[in-house]
Amino acid sequence: MSDLLKNILIIEDSDLQRKLLSRWVSKNGYAPIEAVTISDAREKILAENIDVVLLDWELPDGTGIDLISDILSTSPVGWLPIIMVTGHTEPEYFKLAIEAGATDYITKPAKEVELLARIFSALRIKALHDQLRETAIRDVMTNLYNRRYMEERIEQEFQRCRRHKSNLSLAMIDIDKFKNVNDTYGHEVGDLVIKRLANELKSSFRKSDIISRFGGEEFVILFPETGIADACRILDKVRELVSKIEIKSDANDKFNFTFSGGVAGGDLSAFETNAELLRIADKNLYEAKSSGRNKIVC
Ligand code: GH3
Ligand code: MG
Ligand code: MG
Ligand code: MG
Repeated sequence: MSDLLKNILIIEDSDLQRKLLSRWVSKNGYAPIEAVTISDAREKILAENIDVVLLDWELPDGTGIDLISDILSTSPVGWLPIIMVTGHTEPEYFKLAIEAGATDYITKPAKEVELLARIFSALRIKALHDQLRETAIRDVMTNLYNRRYMEERIEQEFQRCRRHKSNLSLAMIDIDKFKNVNDTYGHEVGDLVIKRLANELKSSFRKSDIISRFGGEEFVILFPETGIADACRILDKVRELVSKIEIKSDANDKFNFTFSGGVAGGDLSAFETNAELLRIADKNLYEAKSSGRNKIVC
């Protein structure tokens, strides 16, 4: 487990109970985050980096059990350990909660030491989950997101941006004449070029932009809340910057490399499906290649 302070979300409508749990949690070195209602809890899950959820059964705006699937899908990391803390002591309730997706179950009145043990166990499962997820969504060579994750995100962001009527742009870029780099300087230098480009992409775009290695020497970048003109301008700046990078080859000489890009999106009302975004970006990339390379086509 990492040493970062762990955030424990306490969803409980009884002030007394919530304060008690909160005190135990902070006394033992965790950061308590309190929520009184289901809608309150939803907001906190989106805004804060939650590690474990303590969930009451009866809440003012619904039951905790209804919130479980919501919590699991709202979590930015795709899953969260949920410990039900409830006055329901019948085993049927226990079964119901676990089947609904809860990780664990404690009956009220909870004991401090038992709660701590359950939180510890939940954190251990969470750490394993996060580790697995990281390896599943990252490209090993560049540590950028991989294609599988990017395809998921394109679908999600497409739906989200359409719902909010906001812009979404997508760029597909591909290193120019990369086969020549491999043939001239060797595969290892080729790998170095891919890593240098990945680092340049990481440091050039905003934190909210999503960058992936989509294939061998091909990258896809997703720009939420960004119009096509802005996306093109940023990408063209990066293209210019990258073309000036000097790569040292073994033989003590230096060379430059370039990439071409195609951009699509902007206002999504003209798009039927997210697949169209990729298709048009790819078409524009092809055009950039066939009209001379080292350029961005929008
Ligand atoms: P174009 O400008 O049309 O894109 O030409 P290109 O040579 O870049 O395109 P092509 O698709 O013919 O060649 C891509 C090359 O990229 C071939 C492949 O061996 C190389 N490649 C793909 N992945 C890697 C990798 O991880 N490391 C290295 N060194 N080379 C890779
Ligand atoms: Mg309650
Ligand atoms: Mg290619
Ligand atoms: Mg290429």
